[in-house]
Amino acid sequence: MHELSIVEALIDQVNREVDQAGQSGPVRRLALSIGRLSGVHPDSVRFAFELLTQNTSMEHAEIVIEEPKAVCRCRVCGVPTEIDELVVQCPRCAAADIVIEGGRELLLQTIEIEESTP
Ligand SMILES: [Zn+2]
Repeated sequence: MHELSIVEALIDQVNREVDQAGQSGPVRRLALSIGRLSGVHPDSVRFAFELLTQNTSMEHAEIVIEEPKAVCRCRVCGVPTEIDELVVQCPRCAAADIVIEGGRELLLQTIEIEESTP
C-alpha cells in the first residue's frame, strides 16, 4: 500500500508547518485534496493516517478529503469533459487528440490547530 509512505510524508509536512507556525497544540482538522487520477485512495489515506498518528498530536484530527475531477480537453471537437478516470479518447467524439488536465494533485490544503490554553 503506497498510501503509507504518502501519509508518512504528509505527516512530516504537517509537523514542519505546525512548527514553523510556532504552534504546538493538537491538530484538529486537516484538509487534503486528492485528485481522481492520482491513484491514491482516500479510504487508504484515512486508514494509513489513523495507523500512523496513534499517540501523536494528530491522533484525533479530522481528515477532510476533497477529490477534484480531471478535465479532458479535446483538440478536435473542443469540448472539455469532466472525467473520473483516465481516458485515452474524447468521451464526446472519440478523438485521440486530447489533453488531460488536473486530477493528479495530492495537496495539503489546510491545517487547523487546537487553540492552546495558556
Ligand atoms: Zn472531442
